[in-house]
Formats: sequence, C-alpha cells, structure tokens
Amino acid sequence: MFRAVSLVPLGSVRQDVIDAIAGGIYENLELEVFFEEPAPLPEEFFDPLRGQFKADELVTYFQQQIETRSRLKLGVTEADLYAWDLNFVFGISILKQGTALISYRRLDNTFYHLPPNDRLLYERAVKEALHELGHAIGLDHCEAPCVMHYSNSVIEVDAKPARFCPDCWKRLNLLLGRQVA
Ligand SMILES: [Zn+2]
Ligand SMILES: [Zn+2]
Repeated sequence: MFRAVSLVPLGSVRQDVIDAIAGGIYENLELEVFFEEPAPLPEEFFDPLRGQFKADELVTYFQQQIETRSRLKLGVTEADLYAWDLNFVFGISILKQGTALISYRRLDNTFYHLPPNDRLLYERAVKEALHELGHAIGLDHCEAPCVMHYSNSVIEVDAKPARFCPDCWKRLNLLLGRQVA
C-alpha cells in the first residue's frame, strides 16, 4: 500500500511549481510528499522532429529506473510530452502501479501566447498531478465534478475541481487501505 509520494523533478524544473504540486498533493490526497533528487531526461525518448518526449516510454523507464521504495512516484517535467496517436499529453501513468508523470509545459498560459499566470499554472499542475496519481493508485475517469474527469485542454482542466468527488474519494481510500472517517 502506498503511504507517501516521491516527487522527482525530471530535467530542469521550476521549484515554485514543484512546491505548489507538493502542497496540493498533501492537501487533497492526504499523503506525505518526499522531494527526491532531480533525474535527467534521457535523450533516447526525445523525438527531434516533434520536439517532444515520448511519454509512454518515459513513464516505463521512470518506473523501472527510479527507486522510491513503496511510495507513489510522480515525475514532473517542463518538457512537452506525447503518447500513442495523441498530439500531446498533460500527463501519463501506469494504472495501479503507482507511477505517474506530468508535464506543465501546456498548462502554462505562455504556451498559448497569453500573459503568464502563476496561480493558474499551480492550480492546473496540482489538478493534473492528482489526476495522474489517481490513475496510478487505480482510479478510472469520472463523469462527476471531480479531478478524475478527463481533460484534454486547459479549458477542461480549469473547469474541473482539484478535489476527488465523494465516490472517487471512497474508492481511493479503499485502494490505499485507509479508513474513511
Ligand atoms: Zn486520465
Ligand atoms: Zn470522481
């Protein structure tokens, strides 16, 4: 059972974004967060034609190479990610295996040539981190107003809450083997 989250910066990552994600995990997932040493992004997963890293291969590598004992693992990167036939992904996870990865590149207003908004960036990064960790623990997508709602654009990310709906929260605690008060 997962009792904590290891946060691993992949490549060069903004510390303020890492801190915001850690705070959001502690607050909404009620798990302790450990800050791990940054790990390099292996170039072998970079597609120079697309200027993106291949998320599905990267997350498998991440699961195998980064040892964090029995904690959940969340990699955070600024690099743009894609997977399968998708143009991009905000994040990716290995269902029930405790490993997740997010990129905040496309969560940043500046990516869309909009004025920077750090508060919004932190909010979005927290939501995507919780969403991918939810999958990594074993949750599926959810139709309720819930952080497990599927989102494929920042508009959809902004529309959903940072919290788990009561059903997902219950399932999450069961999966984590925790008593619900
Ligand atoms: Zn999802
Ligand atoms: Zn839900």
